[in-house]
Amino acid sequence: MKPVIREHVMLLDVSPTTAKFFCSHRSLILSYDIDEAGGRAITLANGRRTLDEILVELKASHITHEDISAFFAGLSEDKIFRNATSDCEPKFEPHYETRLQRQLTYLSGLAPAGKTGRDLQDSLRRSTVLIVGAGGGGSHLAVQSAGVGVGRLIVLDHDRVERANLGRQIYYADQIGSMKVHALQHFLNSLAPETEVIAYPYMLQEGAMWLDELIPQADLVINCADYPSMDMTTLWLFKACYRHRVPLIAAGGYNGHMSSLPPTILPGRSTCWPCFDKFRRSKSGAGSFEHKLSELPAGIFLPATTAMAALQMPDIVRVLTGYEPPRFLNCRAEFDVSTCSLTIEPVSPDPNCDYCTGRA
Ligand SMILES: [Zn+2]
Repeated sequence: MKPVIREHVMLLDVSPTTAKFFCSHRSLILSYDIDEAGGRAITLANGRRTLDEILVELKASHITHEDISAFFAGLSEDKIFRNATSDCEPKFEPHYETRLQRQLTYLSGLAPAGKTGRDLQDSLRRSTVLIVGAGGGGSHLAVQSAGVGVGRLIVLDHDRVERANLGRQIYYADQIGSMKVHALQHFLNSLAPETEVIAYPYMLQEGAMWLDELIPQADLVINCADYPSMDMTTLWLFKACYRHRVPLIAAGGYNGHMSSLPPTILPGRSTCWPCFDKFRRSKSGAGSFEHKLSELPAGIFLPATTAMAALQMPDIVRVLTGYEPPRFLNCRAEFDVSTCSLTIEPVSPDPNCDYCTGRA
C-alpha cells in the first residue's frame, strides 16, 4: 500500500498527540489521538512511499509493519486515506475529466474502502439509464444524469414540445412542435457531449415489444410517464423490470402542493411496486384527505419539479455505483416544497409476496 490522503480530505493539524482532518463532502472534522510516530507517518504518506518505506524513515524500532498497516487500515476505513494506485485507476478523456473535476473530489468522500472517487465515476460512465417520459421530471432527470456523467441515456417519449411545457421543462421556445426526445437530445449533446443519447419517439403501452428489447440494455429504468397514470405506467414498467431484474425508480407524482417520492425498487430484493401501490391505496381510501387531493387538478410548481429531481438523483447514483444502498429503498417519501420538509415512511417488503421475495 502507498497511502495518500483522499481528495476530499484536508489535513487541518497534526501534532505529536493529535491529527485533525476536514472531510469536505459532509463538512465533518475527524480528530484522532496519535503519538509522535503516528504524526510523522501521516506527513510521510504522500502516495509515493510504501508502508515499508515509511517505516524505514520513521526510524522507530518499536513500530512493526503490522502496526503501520493497522494504523493506515483504520484511516482508510474512515475514508481519510486511500491506496495510491494511479497505474490502475480509471482514466477519463480530458473534457470529461475537466468537466467533472469537482465531482471527482466529492465522490472520493463516498467511495468505500478499497475504491476511489474515480472508480465510482467510472461506474457512472459505463452505465446506461432508460428514462421513460421526457416531461417535467424526465427532462430534469435526463439533464442531471448527463450532468453527473452517465455514459448512455435512452430517452423515450411520444409528445411534442408545447408552449405550456416551457414553464417547468427543459425546452426552448424555438423547439415548440419538435418531438421532445429530439429536442432533449439536442440539448444534452451540447451539455455533455461525452454522454451518448438515444432518442425513441415511442409511447409507453402495456406489453410493448420494445420493453423487452430496451430494458435489458439498461442498468436502471426511471419512470416519468404519467399517461394514463403514474401508477399504471409504473406497474407496466415494474413487470418488465422484474423479468430482467433491472432496478426501477418511479420518479414521483403530485399531491396538491406536496410531491411524493415513490421508492427505488430493486426487483426481487425490495418492496415491489404492487405492494407499494397497495400501501398507498390503503392510506387514500374514498373520503380520505389523500384521495380528495388525488382527484384535484393539482397545480405544478417548477421548484417542486427540480427539488424532486434533486432528491432522486443521489439514489440514481447509489444504484449505478453501489457505494451504499439506495436511500428510498423500502420507503415512501413526501417532500413539501412550501415548508422544505421531507417525510419518510417505511414500506417493508411483504414476506408473502412473490415479487418482494423474488419468487415470482
Ligand atoms: Zn410485493
